[in-house]
Amino acid sequence: MSGVGQNNASLATHNTLKLRSQASTLVELNKHEQLDAIFEHARDFKLPVVPLGEGSNVVLGEHIEALVLIVNTQGITLLDTPDNAVYVDVAAGENWHDFVVHCVKQGWHGLENLALIPGKVGAAPIQNIGAYGVEIAPLIARIYLTPLPGSELDKDPNIQRVLQHTDDGNLFIAGGDCQFAYRDSIFKNALRDKVLITSVRFKLGTRFEPVVTYPALRDYLSRQANVSQLDQANLSANDVMNAVVSIRRTKLPDPVELPNAGSFFKNVVLDDEQFDVFIKRHPHAPYYSQPLAGIDQSIQYKIPAAWLIEQRGFKGRYDGNLGMHNQQALVMVNRAAGDTQGDAVIAFAERIKQTVEESFGVRLEIEPRRYSC
Ligand SMILES: Cc1cc2nc3c(=O)[nH]c(=O)nc-3n(C[C@H](O)[C@H](O)[C@H](O)COP(=O)(O)OP(=O)(O)OC[C@H]3O[C@@H](n4cnc5c(N)ncnc54)[C@H](O)[C@@H]3O)c2cc1C
Repeated sequence: MSGVGQNNASLATHNTLKLRSQASTLVELNKHEQLDAIFEHARDFKLPVVPLGEGSNVVLGEHIEALVLIVNTQGITLLDTPDNAVYVDVAAGENWHDFVVHCVKQGWHGLENLALIPGKVGAAPIQNIGAYGVEIAPLIARIYLTPLPGSELDKDPNIQRVLQHTDDGNLFIAGGDCQFAYRDSIFKNALRDKVLITSVRFKLGTRFEPVVTYPALRDYLSRQANVSQLDQANLSANDVMNAVVSIRRTKLPDPVELPNAGSFFKNVVLDDEQFDVFIKRHPHAPYYSQPLAGIDQSIQYKIPAAWLIEQRGFKGRYDGNLGMHNQQALVMVNRAAGDTQGDAVIAFAERIKQTVEESFGVRLEIEPRRYSC
């Protein structure tokens, strides 16, 4: 023990792929007040700080030369309630799904379609989590943050332009300045490795307006109601949330039973010109051009990565202990919890990427963040 956290600590239970990994120092953050001492320790030992929530979107190498900070801070605070809306501040360490369930119970609407996504609230804005036709981007009012040691935010005028201060000196960035896009945000770009998200302020609706544009969700709800045409006026937030939970449970492997990091690759996004070339060569490929219900304007055509992977025969195929799930070609699973290394994950992923690129002329992009591998 170093006084602050634990040295050479295993991260095997802190990542849902259950990779064998060790951090130079591991610290659990339960209260904001611990941060000064933690950051001082990181500076003294010249260690970068790597925040982690539940580790459901990372690939960890065998040794992470860093102070890994497990964010456990708790708290949900209801603020203003203007007409038809509520503002809610949520600590970064709150479990995402529990927060969604809490919102549905309170009658705060907008997050139902995002139920059962693993992880914590603080990580949700990083990749603008999305599912079943909804992204969190338009529901985020602001994000509170603290600079990580060595981030030198004041030296970058582009960052300075978007950072704001509250009267009591807290730093935040408005939702509209987060450059949200498909699985992307400013936190993966200009602010990458520079800030700790401490809480998120959501603006949620008090009038329920179901989003049932996603075919699998609409079909499920129609089947449940035993109708061919879904009457949206009769749907409750609970109905939609429960439907999403049921669909996810049947479609996705539970990381507790079969370690995984959800979708391993992003869907391929093509502009008009690229799409023309692609579809001429592969006229039977599925695609969709509809942007998600978010603020992302840039998407033109998305080719499902799962289809590309399946076409090349990787669905259900294993390489040692790693394989692409037999029902979800996009999900890489690890059969040897605590034994497999991040390098093996990346090597397998690179083989899939290369095969897909040779066959289809498009590049897959790995979704989880890699550390030291
Ligand atoms: C079975 C499964 C299904 C999934 N389904 C979906 C889905 O439908 N849609 C979707 O979008 N994603 C999905 N994911 C991916 C994942 O759940 C989300 O990206 C989630 O938001 C990650 O949360 P986490 O707490 O586990 O983050 P981690 O994996 O712990 O961290 C991810 C990144 O965020 C950074 N980070 C974490 N917390 C903070 C913080 N407080 N401040 C600054 N940086 C931070 C980390 O440093 C890291 O770079 C799925 C994953 C799994 C395993």
